[in-house]
Amino acid sequence: MTDFTKTRAAFDLPQGITYLDGNSLGPMPATATGRVARMMADEWSQMLITGWNKAGWYVQPRKVGDRIARLIGAGAGEVVMGDTLSIKVFQALSAALALRPDRRVILSDSGNFPSDLYVAQGLARAMGATLRVVAPEEVEAAIDDSLAVLMLTEVDYRSGRRHDMAALTARAHAAGALAIWDLAHSAGAVDVNLQGADADFAVGCTYKYLNGGPGAPAFIWTHPRHAEAAEPILQGWMGHAAPFAFDQDYRPAPGIERMRVGTPPVIALTALDAALDVWDGVSMVDLRARSVELTEAFISGVEVNCPELELASPRDPARRGSQVGFRHPQGYAVMQALIAAGVIGDFRAPDILRFGFAPLYNDLDDVARAVDVLARVLRDGNWDDEVFHQKAAVT
Ligand SMILES: *Cc1c(COP(=O)(O)O)cnc(C)c1O
Repeated sequence: MTDFTKTRAAFDLPQGITYLDGNSLGPMPATATGRVARMMADEWSQMLITGWNKAGWYVQPRKVGDRIARLIGAGAGEVVMGDTLSIKVFQALSAALALRPDRRVILSDSGNFPSDLYVAQGLARAMGATLRVVAPEEVEAAIDDSLAVLMLTEVDYRSGRRHDMAALTARAHAAGALAIWDLAHSAGAVDVNLQGADADFAVGCTYKYLNGGPGAPAFIWTHPRHAEAAEPILQGWMGHAAPFAFDQDYRPAPGIERMRVGTPPVIALTALDAALDVWDGVSMVDLRARSVELTEAFISGVEVNCPELELASPRDPARRGSQVGFRHPQGYAVMQALIAAGVIGDFRAPDILRFGFAPLYNDLDDVARAVDVLARVLRDGNWDDEVFHQKAAVT
């Protein structure tokens, strides 16, 4: 059994705060400060440029990728780190479109995160393709023989609805299309099995449930059957077969290395590597069971104590990720009042109060406190105070 008391103790959570926003930004693992400080003092300061070889900075994107691979059902040598998730979406989608040159339709759903859709819109324009966006429940029926690529985010960022990755991938394959999965709200949150689902490409970020820190680098996975055939469209020198030959012409590196673009963010990768230590010894089966326990307890607590809120997430835990949304017409102000009272979730337009449950550091006491404080905030009505209606730049 995974020891979740031990994993919780690995985080530096501020006193008196119940943190239910790890689906937006995971908290800091206590060891991250020391690890980053040591990297700066021992490596950057003392090794200077030789750190790329001596300290292994150059191979870090693959080494850290291997640690993430275990958490998402991928194999060693199949994942590489770098850039932001939006860029990894671009890379996966452009490579997938290039693998289906006689088809030009991309299918996604309206529950996808805007950045994924924006990237697809731009790429569709550049590559002469069409983006079709349907409601999440209509995806399966919309898969037909015109489809080049099915591009979905497994867990909906607002509602927490979880797609059936294996079933939809099988449908896409039966229609001759490829499937790309965005794991932004899955990696570290649910039991992802990319190889089991036979997906083609996957991408994700590491600052949410993987706790890599603000702006931590993203990851990309290519199924081994495509690793030597996938053509990078974003051809950077670090994805070249021989970066230090400084050839005029691009030749892709073998396997997943070709999805590297430019110089990796070594300091950020060091913080992420420290965050991944917490995952050693964590079973993803245990993680999923714990996540279901927490979200079920929260939903029943809120439904009993806060009748004015309406569940915006699927009731069936099998169809839900690790976050729960509730609707309130004044959701923004309610969330600001809740945060002021020490329970941090977030708000997603137009009316969703969003609560992420991260089994690594959230427990049933957090659930009970969040329910209590939320009920009190709604009962007192102080959320209607003017200060709670003022919109900040980041919600
Ligand atoms: C969080 C998130 C992003 C953010 O992309 P960045 O490039 O890292 O800012 C993109 N897609 C999905 C599905 C997300 O949940």
